[in-house]
Amino acid sequence: MATTLHMNQEPRKKQIAILGSTGSIGTQALQVIAAHADRFEARILTANNRWELLAEQARTFHPAAVVIANETHYTALRDALADLPIAVYAGADALCQVVESAEVEMVLTAMVGFAGLPPTIAAIKAGKPIALANKETMVVAGELINGLCRQHQVPILPVDSEHSAIFQSIMGEVSSIEKIILTASGGPFRTFTHRLLETVTPAMALKHPNWDMGAKITIDSATMMNKGFEVIEAKWLFGVEADRIQVVVHPQSVVHSAVQFADGAVKAQLGVPDMRVPIQLAFSYPERLHSDFDRLDWYTMHSLTFERPDTERFRCLALAYEALRQGGNMPCIVNAANEIVNRAFLEGRCSFLAMPDIIAQTMQRATFIQQPTYEDYLETDQEARRMAAEGLTAK
Ligand code: NDP
Ligand code: MG
Repeated sequence: MATTLHMNQEPRKKQIAILGSTGSIGTQALQVIAAHADRFEARILTANNRWELLAEQARTFHPAAVVIANETHYTALRDALADLPIAVYAGADALCQVVESAEVEMVLTAMVGFAGLPPTIAAIKAGKPIALANKETMVVAGELINGLCRQHQVPILPVDSEHSAIFQSIMGEVSSIEKIILTASGGPFRTFTHRLLETVTPAMALKHPNWDMGAKITIDSATMMNKGFEVIEAKWLFGVEADRIQVVVHPQSVVHSAVQFADGAVKAQLGVPDMRVPIQLAFSYPERLHSDFDRLDWYTMHSLTFERPDTERFRCLALAYEALRQGGNMPCIVNAANEIVNRAFLEGRCSFLAMPDIIAQTMQRATFIQQPTYEDYLETDQEARRMAAEGLTAK
């Protein structure tokens, strides 16, 4: 029987689960939801440790449920929300369960690291469209994720600014991509000599010139491992091999990336660096909604520059390309080793230049598997973390 939509009936609001709502991407996603409260609703909010902020977000956005991954904060969070009709859960497994809820219509994966993989898989198996910020998921298991998305007919909407730019550049195209031009800011040490890189401290690396992001990705941007991960992410999202993905350093971060087609035409997406733009598009696609974000000022933007990345000073970029060339579980090994050295660098236990050394050693030592299963990825992650940690103590 056909249902009739009455003229005064409000359109349904898209119910969004935000995994990692207390982070840089998560809080910006909530700004987008607040600005378009007629279109979107935060159905599920989750965090790892920052339970006070999660409780505050829950009071503002009234989700049906919240999850705190670190179970030690469960009681505090539950008590803080005791007067509200909000279900409170704890633990990593709860993240997988909440995304399966029938009401959820889209899952924004804004958690950091390998921990994003299990709930992303759970969401895909439950048929939920993914707004993908957690690039580590695609780095670790892109092939597996693509297979699951095909099987469950689930779309992935990229949130990473470069991948959103590529996505926007192919919107409406029926022809295949000849080449992806993946732009990189080059990070805060773009002009540093090898000798200067020896002196880099966490405080220096945490100051990104153009983007205000979580600590892990900010360090990955400084080493350019982030760009290496984005090459891997682009391969799986757009089906383009590594030798047709060209990284170009563009310090102004105005051209967010570009696509070249068979006739030589290049389409790019430009804008003021603001992650709310790709987040909002992932939520509203195929529509574009109004925003109050800054617009490009074409009269003050005097020069846009482009240069070749230096993979000798920024070895992590070369290691990521190498991992992609080897395939199998090698990107998973690189991701795990990188998570260990990234954290160690932040805590002052590893120098800036030792990071690629330990990742390279781990790539040589860890067990290589050409056709990994999901269980293999879990084991590889553990093994590579252990080896990278040994590499740290040996330094
Ligand atoms: P943040 O560190 O700012 O936030 C991470 C979020 O994930 C927080 O809510 C955090 O909770 C939660 N979290 C961290 N670890 C776990 C865990 N083990 N289990 C459950 N939840 C966890 O990161 P960003 O927002 O910067 O980045 C999120 C993802 O988006 C990353 O994969 C990053 O690469 C990607 N990305 C980010 C961009 C940016 O501009 N920030 C740009 C492009 C991609 P808590 O607050 O409690 O610690
Ligand atoms: Mg990016």
